[in-house]
Amino acid sequence: MSGTIWVLAEHWRGQLSPVTYELLALGREVADALGVPLEAVLLGHGASGLAATLGCADSVLYGDHPALAEPMAQPYAEALAALALENRPAAVLIPLTNVSMGVGPLLAARLGCAGVNFAKDLTVRDGRIEAQCLLYGGKIQACVASAGGTVIEGVWPGARQADQGRSDRVPPVREVQLSLAEPRVRLKQYVDPEAGDVNLAEQEVLVAVGRGIQSQDNLELAENLAAALGGAVCGSRPVIDQGWLPLVRQVGKSGVTVKPKLYIAAGISGAPEHVEGMRDADVIVAINSDPSAPIFEVADYGIVGDALDVLPALAEAVEARKG
Ligand code: FAD
Repeated sequence: MSGTIWVLAEHWRGQLSPVTYELLALGREVADALGVPLEAVLLGHGASGLAATLGCADSVLYGDHPALAEPMAQPYAEALAALALENRPAAVLIPLTNVSMGVGPLLAARLGCAGVNFAKDLTVRDGRIEAQCLLYGGKIQACVASAGGTVIEGVWPGARQADQGRSDRVPPVREVQLSLAEPRVRLKQYVDPEAGDVNLAEQEVLVAVGRGIQSQDNLELAENLAAALGGAVCGSRPVIDQGWLPLVRQVGKSGVTVKPKLYIAAGISGAPEHVEGMRDADVIVAINSDPSAPIFEVADYGIVGDALDVLPALAEAVEARKG
């Protein structure tokens, strides 16, 4: 299957991640533009049942080994390298998520091939794959094409809609035997976040607060607006660092990436590390007392004002409209 486009099928705790389907949709476009097959590469232990939903790909390559029971970067890269040496894919698309982002660089180093990271999108021009990359937290955009041979493309979540990569078709599965060395790193335990807290990625409405909210007592203003809109409160890093909200509520580079229908950013300056985690929201409303705050550059609607006045006014207006 030389020249094939591969997508690493990310899964965790028995579930395929939505980003797997996003990358399949993107991989499909790239493969069609190049006129080559698209193959999903599923690695795991006792995970072959997941292959059935990967029908957006022409086929699934399934590698089973006890060392692949958990998505650890090193054994995954070893397995992918062994398979790539045998199959010579044109490109391997790897999700840039907390689960998989370590795999791509290790794989590129192991194969001695081109590795491109931080891609927001991939296109094909003159028979070559070009990656549009966001570097330094979005401060720099780069267009990167490899000189030839297999290229490893690390792709951010959100490149395509997951639904575009879902299919009812059941793909053919090639199961391969893998011989892997004892992993150098072993997972000891997952430490789950505090029970009972919200999953930000599932919220349709988020009211985010930043340092401009000034004190923990003022969080109530955001909570009231979130309650009126049926959403949840989240925050920028300073708010989490000060312990005003738990870590699972942090949006941004070192927090959660969210794509709600509505994201209201109150008292948040719009640093690249924050924007990275929320720029794909459908509608962004920014409230900031500084008219030159960078958050207004990504906002669909901007309110220049004191968040301590605007948040309760918005909550009141929403309640009045509902009533
Ligand atoms: P500030 O930048 O201090 O902005 C406060 C804003 O509030 C200002 O724009 C001000 O005009 C406005 N304001 C003040 N008073 C009011 C008022 N009364 N009403 C309305 N507006 C008011 N940050 C994240 O958020 N998430 C991350 O995941 C993240 N990861 C990072 C990773 C790395 C490696 C690094 C280096 C940084 C990271 N950061 C992250 C931090 C980031 O660089 C910024 O420092 C941070 O986002 C700033 O938070 P802020 O906007 O709340 O605060």
